Amino acid sequence: MKVIQVKCPSCNTPIYSKERDRLFFCDKCNTLHVRDGGAEKLEYEIAEFGKSAQGEKVYMPFWRMYSSFTITSKSVEGGQLFRLSSWLKGGGNSGSLFIYLPATDMDTNSMKYWSTTYTANPPRYATRLNFGGVRRLAASMNREEAKSLADFVVVTMEAEKPGVLQRLDYSLTVNDAKVVYLPFVYTQGGLTPAL
Ligand SMILES: [Zn+2]
Repeated sequence: MKVIQVKCPSCNTPIYSKERDRLFFCDKCNTLHVRDGGAEKLEYEIAEFGKSAQGEKVYMPFWRMYSSFTITSKSVEGGQLFRLSSWLKGGGNSGSLFIYLPATDMDTNSMKYWSTTYTANPPRYATRLNFGGVRRLAASMNREEAKSLADFVVVTMEAEKPGVLQRLDYSLTVNDAKVVYLPFVYTQGGLTPAL
């Protein structure tokens, strides 16, 4: 297996990576960085495992995109948008939300599942400074790819109730994107959240 060696942009400590992880974490100074051309430090959060978490632990990287949207026109049978309406402020046509998107490789259905699950119900957690020896899944999706899929998450969520939404025109702006590592354990059913 090919080993990649890079240097931490904050403290110059060598970082070795065996997987095709686009994100590099320095265990010495807790800096996360990406290398697209030059080295760029990233904002991130690492969530603490729940106390009852049992089994083999793993961290899954997500892009969490703080986004604002404005609905320009809509046609919805039954009157209400399914999800977007819950983020509208004060009966207006605009609002904001956190859009979650897995940054690791997975099939489309799993990606839909985890992105809509966490976007609909943003996870709450205490944060920690490092991974505490827990393995993390490789991040394969960069920030620009994540931003381009933010629309896909919103449309997928609105389509959860077929036949209700007839037409929806809106603009969506991703204001910032942060990497969030969420805790999971391997169970018989696959990866299970361990917050
Ligand atoms: Zn460092």
